Amino acid sequence: MRIVAARFNHETNTFSPVQTPLEDFGPLHGAAALEFGTGSATAFGAFIEYAQAQGAELVTPLCATANPSGPAEADVFEALAAPIVEAVQDGCDAILLDLHGAMVARGIDDCEGELLARLRTAAPGVPMGVALDLHGNITTRMVENCDCIAGFKTYPHIDMYETGRHVVRMMDAMLQGGPAPVMALSHPPILAQTLKMNTEEPGIMTDLVAAAREAELREGVHAVTVFGGFPLSDIADVGVSVVAVANNAALARGVADELARAAWSGREGFVYNEAPLAETLASAVRASEEPGDGPVLLLDHGDNCMSGGTCDTIGVLEAALDAGLTGIIAGPICDPEVVAQMRAAGTGAEITIALGNKVPLEGFPAKAPLALSGVVGFVGEGRYVVSGPIYTGQTCDMGRAAVLEMGAATVLITERPHEPWDLGVFACAGIDPIAARFLILKSRMYCRPVFGPLSRIVLECASAGITSSNLDLFAFEKIARPIFPIDRGMDWTPGE
Ligand SMILES: [Zn+2]
Repeated sequence: MRIVAARFNHETNTFSPVQTPLEDFGPLHGAAALEFGTGSATAFGAFIEYAQAQGAELVTPLCATANPSGPAEADVFEALAAPIVEAVQDGCDAILLDLHGAMVARGIDDCEGELLARLRTAAPGVPMGVALDLHGNITTRMVENCDCIAGFKTYPHIDMYETGRHVVRMMDAMLQGGPAPVMALSHPPILAQTLKMNTEEPGIMTDLVAAAREAELREGVHAVTVFGGFPLSDIADVGVSVVAVANNAALARGVADELARAAWSGREGFVYNEAPLAETLASAVRASEEPGDGPVLLLDHGDNCMSGGTCDTIGVLEAALDAGLTGIIAGPICDPEVVAQMRAAGTGAEITIALGNKVPLEGFPAKAPLALSGVVGFVGEGRYVVSGPIYTGQTCDMGRAAVLEMGAATVLITERPHEPWDLGVFACAGIDPIAARFLILKSRMYCRPVFGPLSRIVLECASAGITSSNLDLFAFEKIARPIFPIDRGMDWTPGE
């Protein structure tokens, strides 16, 4: 038996100005892809484990993942899709794919659907199983061009490997001579906010995942996934969807529509209502005055680089300083110009910098950088080894880093955008973030496992970045209308 397994992931924020060149995918081929994937807690890792346990000949044409950012150029997609198509063309008995589901390239709104269609043409009739991210925007083309799909059921994503195992179980049944499973896609018109998809707290997403797990226990049902979708994608098929895999079409359709109806009934639960920033900062001051340990954690989630943010908007820090907050630690803020200026000035130098707001955001009013004066603290390499619990042991490189010491705030500035998901982000620059009264992090979700428990309270701040949870800030043109909550007062039933 010859199995082709590949990993090709990108979550695309079509509004993001952050480029996605080929090298950002860190593409690995053949033995290098196999080595990277072996033992990894990913769907790709589960595919490798399965193929090896079967004693199959395993071909791993690609392992490529880029952080969320703007659309890649079409030739980047072509360069990464080609080795997978070629491997399949050489003949194989099964195809196992670890994809995202929300990749957009310039001129290709549905990269996963395009890839799957090419593979189906290259290897007609070969069983193909696909693992996807909970934030996938699922299309009919994806569902029509593979045999089974399972997606993550957790956010933060802690079941990537389990999702791969799930795909493997369905594929194994097919390879043992069982009937091909049948899929159904149901697509309620809901543009859901990522912040309302947390499966570690009560809410609509947690309820829907529980319902999906319950449905999977039914006779003849193989997999049920509720996809929250990635909302910052101006494509026709954006939003919530349900994919059911079952042993007959009526069963798959019934389950997919049932869960989609439940999502529609609970749609208000996907709406994120943000408080005005001034109100949040007032709450932050009150919280800091109450007894308790650790900083008040202020999340600047409108500019988190793990959703395509530039990491250089400065609104939350500016408002906090204007409101008179002191004891602030903030960062990392990406500004290579300022890092160069501070390095040239050297540690101990008094300096005035013009920080941030340098990457133009399409559709957003231009803002001037923030003038800040202080003393240059640390200057050096922004490199650290992750202490965990997420990505433990991985080395992260934020480029060169510099620290500005002001009376009211300590600000970490780096050459590259980087989401603060580990204490090492600050420790490598000599900062203890837990000593802050107010800790401002550009993050939505990834910082929470580490910084949440160390903080007295976590407050989400409204800010005008390219990953904002305020849909009114974005000029959607291609999405199918009507869609909730942009359009209200509409109704929907499956099949429409
Ligand atoms: Zn995701």
